[in-house]
Amino acid sequence: MSKIIAASAIRGAHKIVNMAETEWKNAMDQFGANQEVSFPETAYFLPVIYGILGIPVRKLGDMEKIFNICKRLLPEVPAQQCHLPYLGPALDAGMATLFAEEAYEAIQYLKHPDLYFPDEEPPEGKIWLGAANDIILRKRGIEFVDGTAPGFAAVVGAAPDQETAVKIAQELQARNLYVFMCASKNGEKLALQLQNAGMQLGWPVRLVPFGPDIYEAVFALGFAVRAAMSFGGIEPGDYRKILIYNKDRIFAFVLALGEVSEEWYATAAGAINFGFPTIADTPIPQILPTGVCTYEHVVSNVPHSQIVSKAVEIRGLKVTVSSIPIPVPFGPAFEGERVRKEELYVEAGGGKTLAIELTTTLPLSEVEDGRIEVIGPDLDEIPEGSNIPLATLIEVAGREMQDEFEPILERYIHDYVNYINGVMHIGQRDIVWLRISKKAKEKGFLLKHLGTVIHAKYHEVFGNILDKVQVKIYTLEENVQLLHSKAKEIWRHRDERLAGITDDEVDVFYSCTLCQSFAPSHVCIVTPERTGLCGAFSWLDCRASNRINPKGPNQPVKKELIIDERLGQWEGCNKFVNIASRGSIEKVSIYSIMVDPMTTCGCCECVAVVLPLCNGLMTVNREYKGDTPCGMKFTTLAGTIGGGKQTPGFLGHSKFNITQKKFMAAEGGIKRLVWMPKMLKEEIRERFTKRAAEIGIPDLLDRIADETIGITEEEILPFLQQKRHPALEMEPIM
Ligand code: SF4
Ligand code: ZN
Repeated sequence: MSKIIAASAIRGAHKIVNMAETEWKNAMDQFGANQEVSFPETAYFLPVIYGILGIPVRKLGDMEKIFNICKRLLPEVPAQQCHLPYLGPALDAGMATLFAEEAYEAIQYLKHPDLYFPDEEPPEGKIWLGAANDIILRKRGIEFVDGTAPGFAAVVGAAPDQETAVKIAQELQARNLYVFMCASKNGEKLALQLQNAGMQLGWPVRLVPFGPDIYEAVFALGFAVRAAMSFGGIEPGDYRKILIYNKDRIFAFVLALGEVSEEWYATAAGAINFGFPTIADTPIPQILPTGVCTYEHVVSNVPHSQIVSKAVEIRGLKVTVSSIPIPVPFGPAFEGERVRKEELYVEAGGGKTLAIELTTTLPLSEVEDGRIEVIGPDLDEIPEGSNIPLATLIEVAGREMQDEFEPILERYIHDYVNYINGVMHIGQRDIVWLRISKKAKEKGFLLKHLGTVIHAKYHEVFGNILDKVQVKIYTLEENVQLLHSKAKEIWRHRDERLAGITDDEVDVFYSCTLCQSFAPSHVCIVTPERTGLCGAFSWLDCRASNRINPKGPNQPVKKELIIDERLGQWEGCNKFVNIASRGSIEKVSIYSIMVDPMTTCGCCECVAVVLPLCNGLMTVNREYKGDTPCGMKFTTLAGTIGGGKQTPGFLGHSKFNITQKKFMAAEGGIKRLVWMPKMLKEEIRERFTKRAAEIGIPDLLDRIADETIGITEEEILPFLQQKRHPALEMEPIM
């Protein structure tokens, strides 16, 4: 390593550690050693410290040992005439920097509780998001595992002007990278430059504004450390494995925009420990030979027009930039993009007009592959600000294609259309809501390009079942209405098919092991009357997915001999789960929360918990952020039981499952439900009331407590007694 860089990094590390330690001493005087410190909603404490050192920092007083470690790690600033190799000491200095930065940030959370806005996106008037919570980690981290996001760019500083800022951000987005932003240069900040240019910021569009100082770069590394522990199953303190996991699996790098200060050098040295190189736009000394990183460690003086492609090359990223011929960028990075009213060119559906989507199968001879027709006016003939009716009909054909695959193909339209930059898509079937932005229109985007995208993605993803795809897009009211009546018939038919199937009449259930990538012992057994706990997989979906991809994550599970009818235990399921969980789960009850319940992974829509005092069960959905009568919030529950463990008394499940007949049938099903958040009640009211009527208690939902009644068992019990809730009369649950 160059002496100049090493010396700068070491000097920067001394500055940051001293600064953070002073901050800590002041905080100790102000708040005392017993004051709790934490990052928001995470089970990983201060994640870099926890992951690398294995030390959970819970209180201000716990930081003393961290600062002692920092000081032990800090090397002396190299003397002028010394010619030792500096890489080792500089790396240690970098680590010390990260620990100190993390402690510093935890103190900022304490001192200024509203410094950061702890959610996915900044609201009006705010910008900095701070550290990601565990919900964001799960949701976004999985994209690093499944490849939808190859990695991230930690961008520090600011571009010389707004235009360059936008260009760099869009180039990174087009490669599906997350962009983590912090620090400023001459008062300018990249995140602000993008915001001023009217770009949407936040996790959904992969442009994440962490904070205004260099210290917030530690949030990027904290994310990487948690990803290794959460998805790689690495134990806290096993720093070697954490660093190697990141070097090999997380394709990340630092982009330094603007002259590099000693503090930046120190933080960059911290990142090099993870194998994350630094690419700079200024002429700083380079570190070209490889050592810790796969390629060069520091590459400098790269012009802005080449900086993204250079970074990608240095980090050894294999990025496939989609080659779908449409005039706007395309990829998962644009999935979460909104099109606001002011940006709107044209809108379909969303309650104002009818907008529908349908995928159907035709004989091979009736489909002309690649044919895309717009029947009615296309975007260039539609005036700005219009609300148009829209029907997208996709007709596919293939020797392996079957009707039952249609719902799966249809569901993917949402993803693919949302990948288009400047297009927002919500819903499916006849509740589609589509918005196209003025910018997309200006670039030449037309409705026919929706067809181009769907045609290309269907071939790419479902090439083994279909041979031909043609798309018809209707924009005239009468055509849309006509197709709607035809589509309704098809959808009704599909729904009846599942509604009519019971667990008793099938011999085969399906497994889903998709979530094993981050919860290695987790296995969902999906049955006709129990959908997967993420809500995304029904039994029919699993069956179709198995036929599309026989070696995939959905395998048939033969029920075989029944062991216990009430619990829903079968020999075949037990055998399967035992093997699929690599021996960690022996028995599983499909219908019970108390006896050998199914494992829970992190992505369940709801968690049900036993409430002994009320002789019942509560369940809480992910969107509800408040306290619950079991004493834990959803995040804590999901964090505690969500790693693929079997936890009697706790169970992850989907929202839809609540109204399926076998929902916790062993404990009495919905009759046992004594508490649910109000928002969940309202969301499922219609289906729930129908199901409640079937069991002879039509007003059951209104006898169930919610947070407006109370958030402890003691608070809700009088309400349940007054409403004569059926659970109070049932046999003891424990
Ligand atoms: Fe599959 Fe279950 Fe994960 Fe859903 S929660 S993706 S059904 S393993
Ligand atoms: Zn899951």
